[in-house]
Amino acid sequence: MIRRGPELLLFDCGEGTQRQFLQAKAGINRKMRILISHFHGDHVFGLPGMLHSLSFMGRKRELEIVGPKGLAELITSINRVVKFYANFDLRIREVRPGQTIRDADYRIRVSAGKHGIPCLAYAFEEDPRPGRFDPKKAKKLGIPEGPLWKRLQSGRDVKVNGRRIRSEQVLGPSRRGVKITYAVDTRPCAQIVNLARGSDLLIHDSCFDESAAAKARDYGHSTAAEAARVAKKSKCRKLALFHISAMYEDASPLLTQAKTIFRESILPQDMVTVSVPV
Ligand SMILES: [Zn+2]
Ligand SMILES: [Zn+2]
Repeated sequence: MIRRGPELLLFDCGEGTQRQFLQAKAGINRKMRILISHFHGDHVFGLPGMLHSLSFMGRKRELEIVGPKGLAELITSINRVVKFYANFDLRIREVRPGQTIRDADYRIRVSAGKHGIPCLAYAFEEDPRPGRFDPKKAKKLGIPEGPLWKRLQSGRDVKVNGRRIRSEQVLGPSRRGVKITYAVDTRPCAQIVNLARGSDLLIHDSCFDESAAAKARDYGHSTAAEAARVAKKSKCRKLALFHISAMYEDASPLLTQAKTIFRESILPQDMVTVSVPV
């Protein structure tokens, strides 16, 4: 889950998500999107429980669920059988690889992973932010401190005594936004390398260690080392090894293997928060 100010982006909703979600005290009435990668059970079995819990706990705001073709049918079928009572509007958005979801100040690019069934990967990209404000320059230009400064800081122009001041006159170069890519249940592939390019954080399928490389290939997953190669090729800043097979009681060898290729690899445990600085 990406927690961005007051907003939440939850990627996939496997069994147990509702419990973890409540434990994380993520907030039940925030602006929120759930993005589903594909329809294997471990990525969607949590949806009915999640929707029911959110409604039961008092969610009122609209909730958007994004996913591949078939999502609307899935939600309708669940609802037909178990009749969850959502006290909020549910917006279903089916997307295809190549599409982009736009929001006020970020976008989510959709691409295809390489798995047994159609599987989507998502890249969350913030728009570039205005550069740093220079108060000295503002004072020199005779702009009084207050609302006009605020306006300039947000990248908008102002008028002072009939004179137009452009925000660029008082702002430094614009700063890039955060980029986080989520690619699970996938073989390493060129589409993901392209999608992830320049990410601050890449969350990538790392189901197996190198001794089980054949298994990874057969089941449409990646080894930790393969994930590390994707992170390196796409020049990411950090790699989170994710979707580790339950057969590993101790997954530290996966981390060691990834680190030999891409040093900035991490193996996050449940409920861990990773800060992504800009
Ligand atoms: Zn899968
Ligand atoms: Zn899976």
